[in-house]
Order: sequence, then C-alpha cells, then structure tokens
Amino acid sequence: HATKRTMADHLRKYEQMFTLTPQRMRMIVEAFKEALETGLEKPEQVVPMIPTFVFGWPTGEEKGDFLALDLGGTNLRVCLVTIQGEGKFEITQSKYRLTEEQKQDDGQKLFDFCAESLKTFIDTTMAENTGIHLEKGQKLPLGFTFSYPCSQERIDDGILIRWTKGFGAADTEGRNVADMFRQSIEKYQLPVHLTALINDTTGTLIASHYVNPKTRIACIFGTGCNAAYMEHIKDIPKLQSLGLDQGLDMAINCEWGAFDSFEHEHLPRTKYDIIVDERSNKPGEQTFEKLISGRYLGEIFRLVICDLIDEGVLFLGQNTYKLENPYAFDTAFLSLMESDPTDELLMIVGIFSHFFAVETTLAERQFFRALAKLIGKRAARLSACGIASIVSKMGYLDEGCSVGAEGSLYNKYPGFADKIHEGLVDIFGEKGRNIITHHAEDGSGVGSAIIAAMTKKRK
Ligand code: ADP
Repeated sequence: HATKRTMADHLRKYEQMFTLTPQRMRMIVEAFKEALETGLEKPEQVVPMIPTFVFGWPTGEEKGDFLALDLGGTNLRVCLVTIQGEGKFEITQSKYRLTEEQKQDDGQKLFDFCAESLKTFIDTTMAENTGIHLEKGQKLPLGFTFSYPCSQERIDDGILIRWTKGFGAADTEGRNVADMFRQSIEKYQLPVHLTALINDTTGTLIASHYVNPKTRIACIFGTGCNAAYMEHIKDIPKLQSLGLDQGLDMAINCEWGAFDSFEHEHLPRTKYDIIVDERSNKPGEQTFEKLISGRYLGEIFRLVICDLIDEGVLFLGQNTYKLENPYAFDTAFLSLMESDPTDELLMIVGIFSHFFAVETTLAERQFFRALAKLIGKRAARLSACGIASIVSKMGYLDEGCSVGAEGSLYNKYPGFADKIHEGLVDIFGEKGRNIITHHAEDGSGVGSAIIAAMTKKRK
C-alpha cells in the first residue's frame, strides 16, 4: 500500500465491476426468458406477467374523441385525444399537481380529486380548446391509466395488488379501483364512461403500434422500469380456465422490474447495488429495476463517491456532508456529466461546487465522467437483456421488430438508445440490428384513448 493509487487505477477497478461481457448478457437473457415463461404459467411468480385484457393490436382505423386520465407518479394528467386514423392523433392536456398528503390520505378522496380535476378539464380546457360540445346525456369514453400493479379479469375493472412509487392511500389495496373511480365520477356527475383501466406500459405498447405497426414490445425507463408485449392466449397457461378464444392475442404487462428479486441468482450486483437494495423501503424486491431505473442510478454513483471519500481518495480536507445525503445525486446529473462539452469539464465543476459545495480537480472530473458512463452503460446493456428475452421468446429476431420506449432515462440520457442497440448486437450478433427502439411520445395517454376506442368497438 505504499504507492498512492491514481484515479486511473481506481477507474480500472470500477470498469471491472460494472462491465457486462456478451457472454454474461446471454446467460442473463436465458434466465430472464425462463422467468417470463414461469410468470405466464402460474399466478404470483417473481415476474408476475400480468394479463391486461387488451386483446390484440389496434387496426389503425380507430377514430373519435376519447378522454384519458393518467395517475402514475408526480402529476395527474388529463387529456382529450382525438384519434384520426392512419396513425394520426391530436392531444389536448392539462396537468394537476398531487400533494404528498393526497397520496397517503384516504383512497376514495384521491379518486374524488381525480374526478374533480376531470371536471375542471372538461368545463375549461376542453370546452375552450377543442370545439367539442356534448349533447345532453352524451358521454365520452374514458381510458384510465393507473400505473400500479392490478389484477384484472376484464379491461374495465382491476383490483389494486399494492401501491408502489411512494403511494400509500388507505383503504385501496385489495379493492376494485375502477369501481372506486366510478363512484367519484357519479358524485361529480361527469359526462364520461370509464371503459378501460390500463397500465402506462400497456398504453405505450398500443400507442407505439398505432404509430408504427412494426412495434412488438414497449418499455418504460423512468423512475421505474417495465415492459409490455403482445402474447398468444394459447401460450398463457394461467388463463386457460377462463375459456377465452385461443386464437386471440393479449397484451401482457410484464412488471419485469421484479426480475431476480429475492433469490438474486442471475444479475451481477456490486456492493453498491446491494447497499441500495438493503437501504430501500422494499429490500429484496425490484432487483432488475434497481440496477437500471432513474430512481437509482444517481444513488449508485453517489455510493461509489462516498466509498472513495471514506478511503481518503477524494475531497481530502473538504466538507462533504452534502454528498452524504441518500439520493442527493439525481440521475439527471449523470446525464449532464456525460454530455459536458468542455475540455476542462466545466459542467462537472459546476455540479460539484454548486450542489455539493466541493472543489474538484480535472483528474477527478474525468474519473466522475467515466464512472457515470459505466453506470449508464450497464443500465442500457441490462435493458438490452430484458428486450432480448422477449425477442427471443417470441421469435422476433429474423423478421425484426420495433420497440416503443418512454421515460426520461431513455429520452434524455445521452446515448442510452445507442447502448441498448449495441447490447442487442452483443447478444444476438449482426441480427441484433433488426431490433430497433424508438421514442413513443405521449404513449400512456394516447394508448389509453386507443384502448378505450378498441374496447368500444368490441362491445
Ligand atoms: P416517471 O417515470 O415518474 O413518469 P420520468 O420518465 O420523467 O417520470 O422519469 C423520472 C426519472 O428520470 C427520475 O428518476 C429522474 O432522476 C430521471 N431523470 C430526469 N431527468 C433526467 C435526465 N436528464 N437524464 C437521466 N435521468 C433523468
């Protein structure tokens, strides 16, 4: 230990830790494929593979005015979507802020707030901007995007399995959330008819396909990480007792963030990933998501930095308390560091001095940027493994397909999509180039509206 190690030596250590070889990726894909199959066979598996009761793809000829309400995280979003056919649509929307209290208070009150916001939207934004005037007694179909795991036996009903993403409204888990919302709709006497309850990932799948019919899979890379795809009903053993038409297809909400939870057999976790997991509010759960999604990448970076502070490598003699706060390092900082265009890495100077009150040397900044790249690249390559497992299970490789993707990590992290594509080539060889991801704009709202339209048609 006599020689002081340089930042470049430290970097090599982290390169080893965070790098995924093609061989390792192929092993993950195999295990992932098995987890998908098991989830389709039996209820309550690690990867739950939730049937959505969305039957098949839109034809592209769906048309009309539909309302969509999206309850998924920070905001409540209400939109009016006019579907015009041939992959075209128009969208008018308003956002309503949810308070922390509303997320934790009584569930019926939360749905009352949704109904109240919907009423405001119909009476103001919609009335003023769309030229839609409802006749007396006329009702608009409404798609409700409710992005928490629900078990469904039909498209317009669903039992909330458990809240996620920091929600905890009382008296809601285990209940039919569609019915709860219908009560609120009644209370406010709204001219709407709740026709579909869907997850954002399923909405993104359907909206992406409407715009680009080569779409077979959709992924979300935001606060969390999830995927959906279209499965043959004959290949979903756990639905066999329902007597559905075996010739049809149904969208599956994989909830794949749960892959490798509890047993931790397949994913390579570093000591930093293990700390993130152990200190989270749900240890052992959402293992795949914790290596990939926006909520965690900044925190993984921060934990490495804290380790190097403890070892006396970084910021000697400086007060580093601001860096010691859990989750103080947002994933958006990794994006900014990777895209710093200056030789001196002035963006990184700014982040550390402005937000964390510490000075950095150029060698340190180069190290930070390289570390951010390692963490972001690993996330993209693991995402490629998830996509590859569905591609491989469904046999999409030869023909190729498109993957609709949504979320800040996908949209804003520099080169995230390119790294997913490189990962697919590492897994599949040249044929991996047949799988292309694309950004699915407004996926959840538009998808919800299209699903409401598809549902109307089936009736
Ligand atoms: P949500 O998933 O909640 O609907 P987003 O898709 O916007 O919303 O994802 C939010 C997550 O994305 C947060 O965890 C945040 O840290 C991360 N994020 C926000 N901006 C960026 C960015 N520029 N680069 C990478 N990650 C980002």
